[in-house]
Amino acid sequence: MNSTFASSSPVTYSDYFNDISQYNVHLNVFERAWAAWYAYMQNDVLATGIMSFMMHEIVYFGRCLPFMIMDKIPYFRRYKIQGQKMPTLSEQWACAKLVLLSHFTVELPQIWLFHPMSQYFGLSSTVPFPHWTTMAWQIALFFVLEDAWHYWLHRALHTPRLYKMIHKLHHQYSAPFGLAAEYASPLETMILAFGSVGIPIVFCAFTKNLHIMTMYLWIIGRLFQAIDAHSGYEFPWSLHHFLPFWAGADHHDVHHEKFLGNYSSSFRWWDAVMGTEAGSASDKKLREKKVAVKEE
Ligand SMILES: [Zn+2]
Ligand SMILES: [Zn+2]
Repeated sequence: MNSTFASSSPVTYSDYFNDISQYNVHLNVFERAWAAWYAYMQNDVLATGIMSFMMHEIVYFGRCLPFMIMDKIPYFRRYKIQGQKMPTLSEQWACAKLVLLSHFTVELPQIWLFHPMSQYFGLSSTVPFPHWTTMAWQIALFFVLEDAWHYWLHRALHTPRLYKMIHKLHHQYSAPFGLAAEYASPLETMILAFGSVGIPIVFCAFTKNLHIMTMYLWIIGRLFQAIDAHSGYEFPWSLHHFLPFWAGADHHDVHHEKFLGNYSSSFRWWDAVMGTEAGSASDKKLREKKVAVKEE
């Protein structure tokens, strides 16, 4: 990251920020903050690694917090999908401990590889950021591609052998809550995270057109999606009321309750087209299947 500095030897982060601001008036405040961070760190691998890890922790636990507060307020009970099963604090703490352990042991080493990998595949970390329309279409594309990846791999994880070996842990909570979004075995984390991290990197390997900032915004969107889907709350203002193909908690909560159907992450189309929707229609199909098996 190269910039011209006003002071001869900037020391603190704000020195770098002020210097960059002075000489790069065309940059917006986020771009200045970004450039100052890389200049201040003097080590791009560390700069990206620390930023990625912190971003993940802050967004993950920060997004879970409002749901944990709602659990304590009786008014919100009316929006809880499985209202009879409220997660206890100790249950949530046990879940958070495993999630944190996985973040530090499984994800942290991989996050450290992210910068070298992104350099190799040509992700950009310079300023200015891409135009917002470029970010928007790329993020929309990643949502669609990740959803397809998630649908097929998650469905495969429900075959008896893989379920027992890998996916059972994630289904420990039949009435999910936000923190349970990343409650999974390391192998599952790696398989499903490929959809979130690997797909954009492969996309960049071909197009040479992806900025790390776009990647961050996509990951933040994906984290919001995953935590909301596990929140156990369905509101009149939930996104699927406005975007009927959006999945949300209404879609994924049933998956945890019934263990079958609704395998996709963000959208409803794969389950609709493949006839794997959970709920009344597929229950009927399942019942018919069971009857057919009995009659054989
Ligand atoms: Zn599952
Ligand atoms: Zn789940």
